[in-house]
Amino acid sequence: MIALAGRPSYLAARCSITNRTPSVILILEPNVDRSSDRFLQLTSHLETLENVSFRFHDVQGSGQVLTEVYLIGDTAKLSMEVMRSLPCVERAVRVQESYRILGRHGEEDRTEGFDYNGVTFSQDNLHVFAGLCAVDTREHVEIMMRALSEHGEQCTRMGAYKPRTSPYSFQGHGADCLPWVFELAGKYGIRVIAMEVTHERHIDEINEALESTGNPTGVMLQIGTRNTQNFELLKHVGRQKTHPVLFKRGFGITLNESLNAAEYLASEGNPNVVFALRGMKNQGGNPHRNMVDFAHVPVVKRLTRMPVCIDPSHSVGSREAAPDRLSDVFHATAQGVVAGANLILVDFHPKPTKALVDGPQALRMNELEWFLEDVAITRDAYVKRRQAADRILNESNS
Ligand code: PEP
Ligand code: MN
Repeated sequence: MIALAGRPSYLAARCSITNRTPSVILILEPNVDRSSDRFLQLTSHLETLENVSFRFHDVQGSGQVLTEVYLIGDTAKLSMEVMRSLPCVERAVRVQESYRILGRHGEEDRTEGFDYNGVTFSQDNLHVFAGLCAVDTREHVEIMMRALSEHGEQCTRMGAYKPRTSPYSFQGHGADCLPWVFELAGKYGIRVIAMEVTHERHIDEINEALESTGNPTGVMLQIGTRNTQNFELLKHVGRQKTHPVLFKRGFGITLNESLNAAEYLASEGNPNVVFALRGMKNQGGNPHRNMVDFAHVPVVKRLTRMPVCIDPSHSVGSREAAPDRLSDVFHATAQGVVAGANLILVDFHPKPTKALVDGPQALRMNELEWFLEDVAITRDAYVKRRQAADRILNESNS
């Protein structure tokens, strides 16, 4: 993990009274005491509001807990002045934008990101999720995880359920491989595995396998590009709050449509969402598999509070290299990282020619160290760009 600055992170959302999205958010004083008289006065007042329900959301900051209250329903008639004057309320925000929970609403100091299984995800740090597009053999999974642990990496990607274009292609080992994949993760200190789910049943299978193996690792549930607008799946994934979600942008829809789809997860109760750019399907991308869309990294950060992931493997789709000897996957990664990406989902394989899915785009194990070095170089460039921006803008303001 490459950190830029410590920022607060979400704790689990709680007290879901309704699943509708909020239109007013009350931001309470830090470390509010929920047993205090003032807090009880606040909740008593909120209970008197007609056709308005509310739910609390605790946000873990550095050294403090911030509580937000989402007011839902007939909120148009509420006076913001009255809301602001209520006990324990520091600020009140009327939210009109579409991405009500995940979006930014001119409240730049509202928290972003979350902690999961000891790993912090935010718009200010960077994690590499190098791994197998599809789990095949135990030996390959072990080679991958051992290499990651040797390089101090705590995250990986491991596909067990694979959505395939052809029904005759390998569909993934599914639930069968989960126990040994999780056990190996525990053995090599992997804390978070990105794993796609294509059906609500898969969440139960993952939870059962985690439990039966003693929770040796964590899983970030991945929504693939083909399911970006599978709203029923999104509702199911959003209703579970145990695991965060890695949400892939839809490959043939607008950014606005994908961000609205991500909001389904938060509106159902789980705001711990990472938004992944993975390239767009159009002829302009040829000869790449997809048109690289990493110029949208800063756009997603501006519009929402989600950490932003880039997937250079599925964007580029091959290991071809330029005359400078750097592969297109390396170059695309650099473009995303220099623009401030927070996660990199990248395919590796010990024997790409033997991979059952997406072998042509998988990097080789002997490229892992080089890849991580290349990422560190470009991350350093991003950090320096931020420092230059701060210096120049602070000087021009003083
Ligand atoms: C994947 O990451 O394995 C995958 C299938 O990606 P996408 O949904 O972006 O095609
Ligand atoms: Mn793939």
